[in-house]
Amino acid sequence: MHTEPSIFTRIINKEVPAEFVYEDDKCIVIKDINPRARVHLLIIPKKPIPTLFDLKPEDKDLMGHMMLLLPQIAQAQNLDGFKTQIHTGVSGGQEVFHIHIHLLGN
Ligand code: AMP
Repeated sequence: MHTEPSIFTRIINKEVPAEFVYEDDKCIVIKDINPRARVHLLIIPKKPIPTLFDLKPEDKDLMGHMMLLLPQIAQAQNLDGFKTQIHTGVSGGQEVFHIHIHLLGN
């Protein structure tokens, strides 16, 4: 079955522009195009995992990496607190089927 690359894969591949805040070998951090807080960033793994339901045991290090990155990114944005959200599945409000963590701060 062929599935189109997600918009986030196209951003990771630099085929679609986005405002990058951070990038390493495992993930990118970009500004959300439709911000719902003063700081609204998306932490996105380079591996195109569609939803949390699709996580495999071998994704443990990747998910841990992103969790450890959250406070570092928040501090770099001068936030002393922040909220995180992960939308999962259509009924969970997910629109882009490539795992991402929202980081929201004011
Ligand atoms: P969700 O899947 O519910 O977490 O929502 C996807 C999020 O990605 C929304 O907050 C969108 O505003 C954001 N988004 C969608 N396309 C882009 C894009 N091209 N650049 C940055 N953020 C995006």
